[in-house]
Amino acid sequence: MSRDKKLIIGNWKMNLNTHEASLYLHKLSQIVAVRRDVEVVLAPTLLAVQSLSLQIDRRQFKLAVQNLYWRDHGAYTGEVSATQLRGIVDYALIGHSERRHLFNESDKDTRNKVQAAIRNHIYPVLCIGETASERAAGETHDVLHDQLVGGLANVTSEDLESVIIAYEPVWAIGTGDNALPGDVAKAITAIRSQIKHLYGPAAAKSIRVLYGGSVKADSAADYLATEGVDGLLVGGASLDAHAFVEIIKKAHNDSIVVKK
Ligand code: PEP
Repeated sequence: MSRDKKLIIGNWKMNLNTHEASLYLHKLSQIVAVRRDVEVVLAPTLLAVQSLSLQIDRRQFKLAVQNLYWRDHGAYTGEVSATQLRGIVDYALIGHSERRHLFNESDKDTRNKVQAAIRNHIYPVLCIGETASERAAGETHDVLHDQLVGGLANVTSEDLESVIIAYEPVWAIGTGDNALPGDVAKAITAIRSQIKHLYGPAAAKSIRVLYGGSVKADSAADYLATEGVDGLLVGGASLDAHAFVEIIKKAHNDSIVVKK
């Protein structure tokens, strides 16, 4: 997918049961316009993914999982593989900071999961970002470098075309602390320059990079206007239909509305 199309992902985290998720999707479907310039992706609880996939109009929304397991099949109690999710979801969040920090996911885990998503035709959204203490120590770019190199090891140039990077400073997630657009621009420049180093200038130009971290309806436009930002990963505000729709609207340009 080209960078001309903005990507807005709503991460519902561990909120809404199956019934509530279905009702919320219904509500959103009434108010989100189908447009060619924005792709709207919903990441509900895993429990609701299959039922929502039957309810959804795929021209209006795509689905993501918040996590997956990297082995395809086998004795891995409690896990769900990319192979099982193939055809149900289009995207998978990989290495979200809550996975890294609450569930001790390593760069090796994210690398395996990125690979599993790619081989099962699911777009991996590799989430990277520094903690508050890493930021205070001036280590932001080193952390981004390590998480990128760790997560993308073994990804070929061809495979990279299906990878999306989400820059999510950990200290800005769920905290209401806003990263300054200028700092986001610097971090994304560092990400693209690392991609250039690994895959060359064309890849650095074409890879999609999202920003995430306490994005709200009133801050979305500033981030979307920030150099290098191709969309947003939205947590808390995606659970409020009004706020989420306002965020989506900020991503529209003047292209034609396909369906109200
Ligand atoms: C997220 O879950 O990736 C996120 C950015 O959450 P929030 O918008 O609530 O900070």
